[in-house]
Amino acid sequence: MGDTEVSMEDIAQDVELKQWELNNQSRTEPVKYAPGDEGYGPEFCVNDDCGSEMPAARRAHGFRVCVGCKSIEEERGKHLRRY
Ligand SMILES: [Zn+2]
Repeated sequence: MGDTEVSMEDIAQDVELKQWELNNQSRTEPVKYAPGDEGYGPEFCVNDDCGSEMPAARRAHGFRVCVGCKSIEEERGKHLRRY
């Protein structure tokens, strides 16, 4: 049974290392807010026909359009790629 204990310990150490790596990664993750920019992205969707308030989470990632407009954009992109 001694072997089992050792391998269990190895696995535990592996998991610990992976968790440490993950924690470290999240600390050095690409910046969400650009320096000097309050909230980073625009406060409102840049689409003139929309102008919806931008969710803070999207602004933090620097998105300039709301979820609705983004999906429309992606739809258009798919259509364009066909030609
Ligand atoms: Zn929009």
